[in-house]
Amino acid sequence: MTAQILSGREVADVVRAEVAARVSALADRGRTVGLATLLVGGDPASQIYVRNKHRAARDAGMLSFDRTLPADATQADVEAVIGELNASTEVDGIIVQLPLPHGLDGNRAVETVDPAKDADGLHPHNLGLLVLDRPGPRPATPSGIMRILGHYGVATQGRRAVVVGRSFLVGRPMAMLLGAKGTDATVVQAHSRTPQLSSVTREADILVVAVGSPRLIGPAAVKPGATVIDVGTNRTEDGLVGDVDFDGVVEVAGAITPVPGGVGPMTIASLLANTVTAAERFATGAPDRHPGG
Ligand code: NAP
Repeated sequence: MTAQILSGREVADVVRAEVAARVSALADRGRTVGLATLLVGGDPASQIYVRNKHRAARDAGMLSFDRTLPADATQADVEAVIGELNASTEVDGIIVQLPLPHGLDGNRAVETVDPAKDADGLHPHNLGLLVLDRPGPRPATPSGIMRILGHYGVATQGRRAVVVGRSFLVGRPMAMLLGAKGTDATVVQAHSRTPQLSSVTREADILVVAVGSPRLIGPAAVKPGATVIDVGTNRTEDGLVGDVDFDGVVEVAGAITPVPGGVGPMTIASLLANTVTAAERFATGAPDRHPGG
């Protein structure tokens, strides 16, 4: 058996077209939509990520604001720029490109962002809304994965899901979204201290792997017919590879996301979606700075 390939590029095209239509509808009412990034230092990978986000924002008809600070910027410098972006009426979504250079506190920087402009969905206020199952911007990568599952009609209700990884960026919010009311998967969260990982992952109807370890999950760790979502992006001598041994697992799984072209494109699409949702709320004069509050 060869698994169905779940193309994140295909789903991202759909989401980006929806976002562009919503941006255009706001433009018809005289309202622009703006996405701002803050990059500190000159890390080449971060520069590429930021460039891709600006390109995607402009393609969707948004204004994009590119703020950069030198690597020797202070925490006060970082928070001053975020304060300016919070105050700008042209900016609806803010991304602080993480990680920040050594000596700066990325968590504090994220907490300085106005929760209503939190394009990444990582502000503690918004993570709290996720836990409470109340509306708010969701973390971009897990919400992109939920959209992939929905697009391809992967059933979740009553299915057993295993999420490998428990970072606040991917693993934890992923487990919450899969187990939320209405989605209704039964979720197990695995991590580096999970004994006999492959016997746990073999129980999964839906297996999400967000570890950062090239080809950690082989075919013996996958239940035949399972849906496998590979979040990992590992730069190796063979190029970009996921956390899943794609060539082996594709013969066992029922469906699988490739790397590249799987989860990655959905992360950017979700950032854009969070930004246009924020703009719509601002345009309707939403009374508070706390979506869902
Ligand atoms: P992270 O913060 O380093 O978290 C990794 C998680 O994996 C931790 O919870 C860790 O467990 C767990 N882990 C480590 N080794 C393990 C093992 N041998 N067995 C089981 N669990 C293990 O990483 P992250 O930010 O979640 O990112 C994970 C991967 O996704 C990375 O490759 C990253 O580049 C990629 N990523 C991709 C996208 C995208 O858009 N495609 C977005 C975000 C991240 P402990 O908690 O016990 O340490």
